[in-house]
Amino acid sequence: SKVLLTGGTGFIASHILDHLLECGFDVVVTARSQAKGERILASIATSPNVVNSVGCKVTYAVVENIAEDGAFDEVIKTNLPLHYCIHTASPCQFSFLDPVNDCLLPAINGTVSLLSSLQEYASSSLLRAVLTSSSAAILNPPNHRPVYDESSWPDDQTLNWDLAADPNAPGDTTYRASKKFAEQAAWEFVEGNELSWDLATINNTYTFGPLPRSLDVKNAGEFKVNTSNERIADCLTGKWSQEIPRTAPVFTFVDVRDVAVAHVRAMTRPKAGGKRFYVVGGFFSNAQIAGVVHGLGRAKHQGREREVGNKGEEVEMCQECVNWDDFPENHWRFNNARSKNVLGLEYRSLEESVVDTVRSLREMGVGK
Ligand code: NDP
Repeated sequence: SKVLLTGGTGFIASHILDHLLECGFDVVVTARSQAKGERILASIATSPNVVNSVGCKVTYAVVENIAEDGAFDEVIKTNLPLHYCIHTASPCQFSFLDPVNDCLLPAINGTVSLLSSLQEYASSSLLRAVLTSSSAAILNPPNHRPVYDESSWPDDQTLNWDLAADPNAPGDTTYRASKKFAEQAAWEFVEGNELSWDLATINNTYTFGPLPRSLDVKNAGEFKVNTSNERIADCLTGKWSQEIPRTAPVFTFVDVRDVAVAHVRAMTRPKAGGKRFYVVGGFFSNAQIAGVVHGLGRAKHQGREREVGNKGEEVEMCQECVNWDDFPENHWRFNNARSKNVLGLEYRSLEESVVDTVRSLREMGVGK
């Protein structure tokens, strides 16, 4: 079967691509330029265990601006029959010069135009589309509910268009609204059209984990660590040496490899159709991250030579960090039962996720 995967250069998409290939799918990825598409292909060629053993095909198509009407027409028309689509491409940062054009419209129009093109050109073969939404389309800060699950959406009073489109809006407000509106638009599209295929959404929370393999190409030049891994990179490079910054407002994490598995299972499992999945591995605080990162450093310092990140290896947490912890006593809870029951997810621990992220950052020369 063939899958269209948008935003192939992204952190999460790179892991979805790996997992799709492991599962034997042919994949068409979209990238914003030819150079980026070539870089994705080059990264796969350097991982023979991923592609050669199962012999699937990966190609790329350039989609420069997802906000444009019909942006995906060409890639869909030239890659039929398509059986599935996973839409990850969306602005994922917290600073925008022009909130409407840099964030809200690419997120919302990108989603609607993709679903429209799929319906127009691929409906005879398409089985399901999976949208990478976010916990931002579930949580309701600052007025948190006691427990969150897939039935929850952010209130309109706290997250609405006017707040998000204001040029002075905090970047995270604009980002959160872009995810809420894009997911709402997707469900409205499904309700408003008679479709022979269905939709599932992955509402993953703050995502940590190894960097995209496509970055690991010689001469890739300067790269920017993706937004959600930034805090681990900051800790590793010593930006937290004077003071550990406050964790708020984010307190839950999930590992990117679990997010990738969630997408592929949401794509193929019959019971996943028509459902949202709140994908969250656990709570974290910056102090716990620092505890693991500094703990790794200390273990090394004490002369225990070992490779960082061996699975199952215990990290000696740095007690200073653990003693300073801003994890709130009265905090909201999450219910991730649907992701376990329907998708069979088994979540990685914070420690495993942070250790593997540190190892991957070091491989890229960060924090050496
Ligand atoms: P990345 O920034 O690594 O990836 C974003 C991808 O979207 C890149 O391929 C990027 O292309 C593409 N993209 C962004 N803006 C545009 C645009 N205007 N037009 C075309 N392509 C665009 O972030 P992640 O991998 O972390 O995020 C992927 C998805 O997951 C997003 O939808 C995000 O909202 C969602 N998500 C992420 C979470 C996290 O903690 N990381 C948590 C919950 C949801 P390019 O490389 O060319 O910039």
